[in-house]
Amino acid sequence: MKYDVIIVGAGPAGLELARELQYSRLTVLIIEKNEAIGPKICAGGLTSKDINFLNIPPQIIENSYTSLNLHINRKTYHINRKNPFIYTIDRTCFAKWQLEQLENHIAIWKNCKVCVINSKKNYIETSSGGKIHYSYLIGADGSASIVRSHLGLLSNKSIIAFQYLVKTQDSHSLELFLDSKKFGSTYVWLFPHHEYISVGTGCFPKYYDYKQLQKNFYEWFDLQTFSKYEKKYEVFPINCDFQGYHFDNIYLVGDAAGLASDISGEGIYQALVSGNEVAKLILNPAYEPKKLNYLIKRKKFYRRLLMLPILLGPFRTQLYKFTAHLLQKGKLIK
Ligand SMILES: Cc1cc2nc3c(=O)[nH]c(=O)nc-3n(C[C@H](O)[C@H](O)[C@H](O)COP(=O)(O)OP(=O)(O)OC[C@H]3O[C@@H](n4cnc5c(N)ncnc54)[C@H](O)[C@@H]3O)c2cc1C
Repeated sequence: MKYDVIIVGAGPAGLELARELQYSRLTVLIIEKNEAIGPKICAGGLTSKDINFLNIPPQIIENSYTSLNLHINRKTYHINRKNPFIYTIDRTCFAKWQLEQLENHIAIWKNCKVCVINSKKNYIETSSGGKIHYSYLIGADGSASIVRSHLGLLSNKSIIAFQYLVKTQDSHSLELFLDSKKFGSTYVWLFPHHEYISVGTGCFPKYYDYKQLQKNFYEWFDLQTFSKYEKKYEVFPINCDFQGYHFDNIYLVGDAAGLASDISGEGIYQALVSGNEVAKLILNPAYEPKKLNYLIKRKKFYRRLLMLPILLGPFRTQLYKFTAHLLQKGKLIK
């Protein structure tokens, strides 16, 4: 059995890549290890650039926000804009919408895990058995990517992110909590959804004691009014260790490529852009992936920027206050 393009993983990156390839003559197979496409440990926060990039219809968006409450220690800064700048989505609905964009001729194998890759003979083996040959193999399989491991690329820079999904329909504002003593150089987010709120944080274990952050987060969480509701705890890594995306006839996209933001852990936009650009490169090897190149350049800049609050230690609070001041003046976010 042979397909021109085999995409491992039906997350935002893999589905966007397939969408871009679907009007070509290439045969495309998506292999997804889970039975359900969509559910993923994620806070489901998007920014305007995601919405503009995909032209996401309003029914996919759960909430859109023109304001953000930024808590720095005990003081709250209200950030307001004329137009929405942060949105929340449900990952299952988002994937359903992405799937609806796909034509029937794109083959999708669910409940099927890629277990073996032979890049010398260009085939993979799955949990369902049998070899499937490819011309191009795409690693769109997230932070614990088998395709990336096969290429021998370690993920040394992964954020360990964790969150509570708190079951509540109470209305909540969009909130970020910065507290140098409790959360070091990282922050806690509160993203409201229709049926629940996502409250979480994360850090690079290299720069902050992950267990200590977890302990401080639990203690802080227990003091919040919403802690009394039914909740589910989730933890998952976010791979931020970008080391390239093109390896002969193998490409890595999204979290498998380590494209998520080192500062915010945001990775949906990066997954969509890389999926889209790699598809265009497969269709036309002379294509110049300007958006992807820009994203990589910006990622390197933000990685350096991340060091600032880390190096500042307890003085980072001054930096937070200065940033809040700029945000209130209408800077940094349009
Ligand atoms: C706690 C947390 C909160 C987050 N919040 C946000 C947020 O608010 N906004 C944001 O932009 N990003 C957020 N992210 C990051 C975001 O979830 C990822 O960057 C994004 O999902 C990456 O998309 P992807 O398509 O590259 O990979 P994924 O969404 O991880 O998809 C990979 C797919 O591959 C499948 N797969 C894996 N291995 C195999 C295999 N061997 N065979 C077959 N299939 C396989 C998986 O089942 C999965 O469906 C968060 C992450 C975490 C952990």
